[in-house]
Amino acid sequence: MKRRPRLGQHFLTDASVIQQIVTTTAPGAGEHFVEIGPGRGALTGPLLSRGAIVHAVEIDPALAQGLRASFPHERLSVHLADALEFDYAALKIPDLRLIGNLPYYLSTPLLFRLLESAAGFRDMTVMLQREVAERLCAPPGSRRYGRLSVTAAVRCRAEPCFSVAPVAFEPPPKVHSMVVRLTPDSRYRIHRPDTFDRVVRQAFSQRRKTVANALRGLADREQITTAGIDPTKRPEQIDVEAYLRLSEHLD
Ligand code: SAM
Repeated sequence: MKRRPRLGQHFLTDASVIQQIVTTTAPGAGEHFVEIGPGRGALTGPLLSRGAIVHAVEIDPALAQGLRASFPHERLSVHLADALEFDYAALKIPDLRLIGNLPYYLSTPLLFRLLESAAGFRDMTVMLQREVAERLCAPPGSRRYGRLSVTAAVRCRAEPCFSVAPVAFEPPPKVHSMVVRLTPDSRYRIHRPDTFDRVVRQAFSQRRKTVANALRGLADREQITTAGIDPTKRPEQIDVEAYLRLSEHLD
């Protein structure tokens, strides 16, 4: 089957890594999984053999057809679709789980999209390039802390699980990978999601500036101070609660 490198097609071939992902995910019989980018079925097969019900979303028609042929299973439905556009809520499945060895060219926009609808999932286990995984899980004050970390932390617990070397894939990618588990939680209430996203996006678009300078035009010094934020701090020193408070203080 022809491989399409532009679609991030690096297939997992290392049986011990596949086993490690399945053990981390612990699929149960009868549980519903969305699988993003099933490819040749390295994860689909083990999910099905453990009794899970798989809703696979694959953009490549040849791979989607190959998957149906390799796993003619009533518990597998293959959606020929772009995972970025797919309407996950339309599946109307409560307690839906998500798994995927994500196509790396798309992982950041896809994560933002999945985080937006995180509350609709019980959990998400995803393989990412290590640098993106580190941004996703970074705590305030660290080098990698940014818009992705804040967007994740306000909706989920993000845990790095284990690293995966390039040799585990065929063909090997240029970078190391990492499996991350996201568990949505309701610790924080986002009353104004659009404002929150606007604040965080603008703050981190100029991360070398002070938060007061970075947010110029959106929040003034007084609003920043009223939200309990020191305006001379840098955007990466501000935690999720403070960004939430600020988004609620804006008109
Ligand atoms: N799960 C397989 C594995 O682990 O071997 C394949 C993973 S490969 C890194 C990424 C997969 O995502 C490929 O099958 C690719 O065709 C698919 N893909 C790429 N872009 C996609 C998109 N926008 N929507 C859905 N699938 C996509």
